[in-house]
Parts: sequence; C-alpha cells; structure tokens
Amino acid sequence: TSSKLRGLGTTIFAEMTALAKRTGAVNLGQGFPDTDGPAGVLAAARDAISAGLNQYPPVDGLPELKSAIAAARADRYGQVFDPDGGEIMVTAGATEAIASVLIALCEPGDEVVVFEPYYDSYLANMAMAGAVRRPVQLRMAGDRFGFDPAELRAAITPKTRLLLLNSPHNPTGKVFTAAELTLIAELCVEHDLIAVTDEVYEYLTFDGAEHIPLATLPGMRERTLTISSAGKTFSATGWKIGWVCGPAPLVAAARKAKQFLTFAGGTPFQAAIAVGLRDELDWVAALRADLQERRDRLRKALTAMGAETYPCEGTYFLQIDVRSLGYEDGVEFCRDLAEKAKVVAIPAQVFFDDVETGRRYVRFAFCKSDAVLDEGIRRLATFT
Ligand code: PMP
Ligand code: GLN
Repeated sequence: TSSKLRGLGTTIFAEMTALAKRTGAVNLGQGFPDTDGPAGVLAAARDAISAGLNQYPPVDGLPELKSAIAAARADRYGQVFDPDGGEIMVTAGATEAIASVLIALCEPGDEVVVFEPYYDSYLANMAMAGAVRRPVQLRMAGDRFGFDPAELRAAITPKTRLLLLNSPHNPTGKVFTAAELTLIAELCVEHDLIAVTDEVYEYLTFDGAEHIPLATLPGMRERTLTISSAGKTFSATGWKIGWVCGPAPLVAAARKAKQFLTFAGGTPFQAAIAVGLRDELDWVAALRADLQERRDRLRKALTAMGAETYPCEGTYFLQIDVRSLGYEDGVEFCRDLAEKAKVVAIPAQVFFDDVETGRRYVRFAFCKSDAVLDEGIRRLATFT
C-alpha cells in the first residue's frame, strides 16, 4: 500500500457485518435496512432492465434522474438547480460524490474542517486527496449535541479549503439547527470557503426536526456542493445512486475526478430512482414515521439495560455511553456484547481523531425489520 493509504484499516462496517455473519449475531451495526423500498421503485428497476437500459448512462447521469433530483429539491427546499446546465451530477452513491469532490478540489496540504465524529470515508478520501483534516468536536451541550463556535473559528486557517458538513449527522443523530447553520454559513462567507454537505439522511428526521440544506442560507448557493443519495431515502443502499448539486464550475471539477473513478454506472437504478423521487415521497414520509417508532423501541430496550442513550433527531442511529454500563471502551463493550448477547453494534471511536473521547460512544442501528430489531432487543435484555 502507498503511504497515502497506510494508516487505513478495513472499514468498521465490513468488519462488524462479517462478525455478525460469523457468529450468528443480530446485526445492529452497519446502517442498512433489511426490508425493501417502495414496490413502484423496485418495479421501475425491473422495467428499465427489460426495456434495455443496460449500457453506460451519461457521465452526469440520466437526464430524467437529474430532472427528478432538481424537481424534488425545488419542491422541498425552494432551491433551483439546473439539470441541463451542469449543476447536477449523478454518482455511485454519496460515497463517490464525496471522494470526487475532495480529490477534485483539494491541493495536497489543504485543510478541511469537519465535525467530529465524522463518517469514515471522509478520512480515507482526505488521505487520498492529500488533504489535512481539522476536526471540530460535537459534544453534548444541554440536551443535544452542539459545537463551540470558538472552536470552529479556531479550526479555520489560511490553509482551509473546504468545510465538510454532514446533517442529519451519522453517528450522533444530530440535525443541525438554523442558528448553527447560520454561523457556519457566515464563517464560510467570511473566509471564502467552499462548503460540501452530506445530506444522505435528509428525509429521515424525527419529532418534527427540520433538515435545512446549508446551500439555502445567504451567500451559500454559489459556494456549496450539496450531496445526497437514494440509498437511505428509498431503502436501496446496494444500488449506490447518489448525486451532487451545485454551481456548474464546482460540479465540473468533481466530474473531472468522477469520470476516472467509475465514469458512470447503475443505469436501470438511476431510472428507478427518478420514479421514486417523482412518485414515492409519501412512502418516504411513512418510512420516517416508522423509523421514529423503531428508534423509540430500541431506546426503551437500551434504557432498560441500564445504558445512558444520547438524543437522536434523525438518521438510522442511536448512541449510548458505555460508561453507564461500567465500561471505559466501546470496542471492549462491542466485543462483550457480540460474545455474550450475540448482538453487533459499532464502536463509534472509529469516527474520532480524539479516540480518548470517542471510546465512550457505541452506535446502534434501528433501521431493521421487526424480526431483527425485536430479536436484538430480546438479546440485549440478556446482557449483564
Ligand atoms: N454519508 C453518510 C453520513 C453515510 O452514513 C453514508 C452511508 N450510507 C454515506 C455517506 C454513503 O452513502 P452511499 O451509500 O450513497 O454511498
Ligand atoms: N453508512 C453506513 C453506516 O454508517 C455504512 C455504509 C458502509 O458500509 N460503507 O452504517
């Protein structure tokens, strides 16, 4: 391996899913649903294959999908991107969008401000791009996760190129508020930073929490690349259809990288996701309500077990503090939980530079069928 990748191990998700398979444990680790998305979307993919949509799509994606993405964002957020003017590009999941953007926009040594904990592919992609991460920690402040504005200010230096924001946030379940986003936007404008947002959980918010895209704040439309994905919205994580929206010159830069990563892909799935965005957003609203109920069901079980749980305003994930169960270290807790209770969770310290702080957090996924979630809950009750 090259020096760029030497520090990277196997992703925690592959590792923990393999552990679950090997030991017969219930997998509340990797965030993927185990029930299918809307029947109309599944049928649309089959129809697209039958209709011969099986060759390369355009690098930017099928025109019908780009139009559907634009229409969905305009409806939901009142923000218009031109699908024919180079403002939308379809990617192999949000993962490829994030990788393309970081590779395309960062010079070696450029700094990227990112909230910690952060999704694992960010670290790997920054390493590939030669960029340096500048984490700003999310901490409990009152009854929710927040950040210290002074710490955010201090993380921005003359070398800062990008600010990378994930909201709704994996793994904390935090949904950034209008006030927090306003501060972030002001700093991006003041320091002339490009913002990159990962909004893959944009539809999955709970208790009325509202997802606000950073690009809709004053001064941000022209400096933000907005990334999302169909995986979570339509419970189709294996289809890997994502996208990036933004000003044409920034999208064009990302396209330069993307065309030599995968070039293009997923033609029939692109067609099906266009149908989903047009016709199945009611299904997504029902999914959100269903996930909220599952979150509450899992929280009850974790609380009964004696665990202190953290708030969760969106995403698939609920975190606990393992110190409430007499542990100091999440990896050790996850090992014991898998061995004794046969339940797999994710030690969230892998999303931290500050491992000492990260050790206390363990993440559970509640995006699971009744059979899986309830069996997981039954087993949690046996853990002592
Ligand atoms: N960002 C975050 C925060 C995620 O949780 C995930 C995992 N679904 C991704 C990006 C990757 O998305 P995709 O599967 O569309 O590549
Ligand atoms: N995003 C998913 C999670 O956080 C995992 C995706 C993956 O396995 N790469 O669990």
